Amino acid sequence: MHETDMTKALILTVKDWWESQPERPQVDKVHLIVGKFTCVEPISLQFSFDVQKQNTFLENATLVIEETPLIAFCHSCQQEYMPVVGLQYGCSQCNAPMEDIRSGRELKIDRIECVDMALEKGGIF
Ligand SMILES: [Zn+2]
Repeated sequence: MHETDMTKALILTVKDWWESQPERPQVDKVHLIVGKFTCVEPISLQFSFDVQKQNTFLENATLVIEETPLIAFCHSCQQEYMPVVGLQYGCSQCNAPMEDIRSGRELKIDRIECVDMALEKGGIF
């Protein structure tokens, strides 16, 4: 997965949302959920974001990445387990192959935080 392209898509998505807001709020933080099983490197993503946000409406925004663990469900054992990425994907009890992924494939914007306009107007500016 190319983090640079992903960041482009991410910024476009936020931009679409932002342009649909009549007040064009100042974006403060973009919260992103990235699953452990997406092969996305949060550090690379963070880096791409900081480069690509320059001279855009997101210049003062911070990317906040929350990683979700890889969790699978074993139907033989009827229990959830946490596979070890790159090492052990099968069930930790019976070693059945990983079939049912319950968490870890997420890649989505959780929420967008904006600077409170009212607060800004009451401030020192
Ligand atoms: Zn099992």
